Amino acid sequence: MSAADTNTAAPAAEAARLRAEISRYADSYYNSDTSLVSDFEYDALMRRLREIEQTHPELASPDSPTAIVGGEASPAFSQVVHPTPLQSLNDVFSFDEVLAFAAKTEEYAAPESGYVVEPKIDGLSVALYYENGVLTRGATRGDGVTGEDVTANIFTIKSVPRRLNNAPEKIGVRGEVYMPRFVFEEINAEREINGEPPMANPRNAAAGSLRQLDPAVCAARRLDMIIFNIQYIEGIPDGRVFASHAQTLDYLSELGFHTVPYGVVRDGDAITAELERIGESRGEFDFDIDGAVVKINSLAARVELGGTAKAPRWAVAYKYPPEEKETEVLDIIVQVGRTGVLTPKALVRPVRLSGTTVSNATLHNADFISERDIRIGDAVIIRKAGEIIPEVVEVIAEKRPKSAVPYEFPRECPVCGSEVSRDEGGVHIRCRGAECPAQLLRNIVHFASRRAMDIEGLGVAVAKQLLEAGLIASAGDLYFLDTQRLETLERFGKKSAENLLAAIEKSKSRGLAALLYALGIPQIGESAARALAGRFLSMDAVEAADASELIAMPDFGETTAKYLQAWLKNPQSQHLLGRLRAAGVDMTAPAPQTEGKFTGMTFVLTGALSGYTRDEASRLIEERGGKTSSSVSKKTGIVIAGEDAGSKLQKAEALGVRIINETEFEDMLKN
Ligand SMILES: [Zn+2]
Repeated sequence: MSAADTNTAAPAAEAARLRAEISRYADSYYNSDTSLVSDFEYDALMRRLREIEQTHPELASPDSPTAIVGGEASPAFSQVVHPTPLQSLNDVFSFDEVLAFAAKTEEYAAPESGYVVEPKIDGLSVALYYENGVLTRGATRGDGVTGEDVTANIFTIKSVPRRLNNAPEKIGVRGEVYMPRFVFEEINAEREINGEPPMANPRNAAAGSLRQLDPAVCAARRLDMIIFNIQYIEGIPDGRVFASHAQTLDYLSELGFHTVPYGVVRDGDAITAELERIGESRGEFDFDIDGAVVKINSLAARVELGGTAKAPRWAVAYKYPPEEKETEVLDIIVQVGRTGVLTPKALVRPVRLSGTTVSNATLHNADFISERDIRIGDAVIIRKAGEIIPEVVEVIAEKRPKSAVPYEFPRECPVCGSEVSRDEGGVHIRCRGAECPAQLLRNIVHFASRRAMDIEGLGVAVAKQLLEAGLIASAGDLYFLDTQRLETLERFGKKSAENLLAAIEKSKSRGLAALLYALGIPQIGESAARALAGRFLSMDAVEAADASELIAMPDFGETTAKYLQAWLKNPQSQHLLGRLRAAGVDMTAPAPQTEGKFTGMTFVLTGALSGYTRDEASRLIEERGGKTSSSVSKKTGIVIAGEDAGSKLQKAEALGVRIINETEFEDMLKN
């Protein structure tokens, strides 16, 4: 093998590896709205591949990710061919490259027009098309030539004008659809309450929302859009002509669009100063940025400069590196989320990072701390890369103070003192307190939800009001509310107070299955709750059940039994159940709806039967439409007394309940 061959073999292998990696990331990003790597890492891979292909042109290929702009249109939306392609820009990663771009283009940036610098919003690129001032279509960028028709969803964005003031005959504009940060945070807080997984970042959230098939879902995501370019324009009413990009942005703003903030600068040094300024103030925007765009301002110069098939020569996109800073862990605190998850956080010596002052960083979970052996007093590197909260990247081991000791994760809830335990097979450690104040909002909302106690009108907003006004401190308190107190709440008239109370009253008869689900017991979802209710028929019987009886149920493992019993034993759970009982909440379930000879009869088993276990006997009774109960009362129809029957037998005799032995029971089964 010659030296030349070995030289190509290595780049060929590297190019192949990069293509595979990039394609996987791109597929996930464009087709599943999920980022597997940070943009910075993705762009760096892309750039390395481009370098290899430039120095080894024989390795270039038409199906390389460098030749494909990205994102195939989804078949779920109809396709739109953009009248003017939505190009992408060449990325640069350092000020040197920005200065090189400025040096190459300075003659085109005639002193009077200069360069425009704009923040590059990290959202989803979309084109809007207007005819005679009316919005006729909105389409995603797609591969730049063909995108998806998302008009119905664009209509849900309040800042997008449906009709333009003093409009040109035809105009196509391009902008970025994004989810404002505060909306992202609100939606994620709500998802947490509802037990849904959080959205990863605002960009994925925006992309996912805009591609919803139901515009109502998209509307609830409260997207926004910022316009940064005129794609084409015809028939301007006052016949004006634009000389610069800045003038077009001002014009877009006059038409009623929400437009990108921009600065006009004269030369390379001024560009980098502006890039620094944008980087410093990025924390103040209501959108995330993934860079800043530098464009030649003069429109005539742009035509002269032209571009390649892929990108114009008159602009570059500068990518900010994820910023990392060294700081010190002053303390580690543990917060309890609305679902009871204990989340550790490092309080750090304040440092400036990506335009904001940072004084804490997430430590994710207990494993994250122990794997990295993060200790109070440690010098650490923190980083912010797209996420809202920075994270601890690594510990600087050689700077560890001698006094630092390994961190011990709390064993009790820092809010309510209940025992905490790890999710089965998971990383989360959770407080199991049924009345833990940290979890109250979520617990109340879950308790009232449709498939649980179905209390109409008791959603997040009302639950928040009740808690904030101190009217309730647990789900049990709902049943002790009255009109007078409810009326003191804002936006709560007599009528709405009465409606809410009626809904709460109605929920008392939801029955055991709904109640067991409503209580939010770990591992007890709807089907487990139904199974428990069907098997035990009363809360008393569920509480009295021993582990073996629980495990004997189909789909009921040891862990579920363990969580259920631990929950029932917790004093907070007992307090809650006590309140619900006192309120008269129905804690029974109807017997299985089997019609048979035992329909309407209740049996109590006492003592040991020789031919059947207690479960078998119960099943035989239930199969024939009967009920079984664990305690004797006047309502008991028949007591089946086996060997060594004790107090239940005496009670049955005292109450005059019919008593039979095993042989008589067998006869009843047969006949
Ligand atoms: Zn707690």
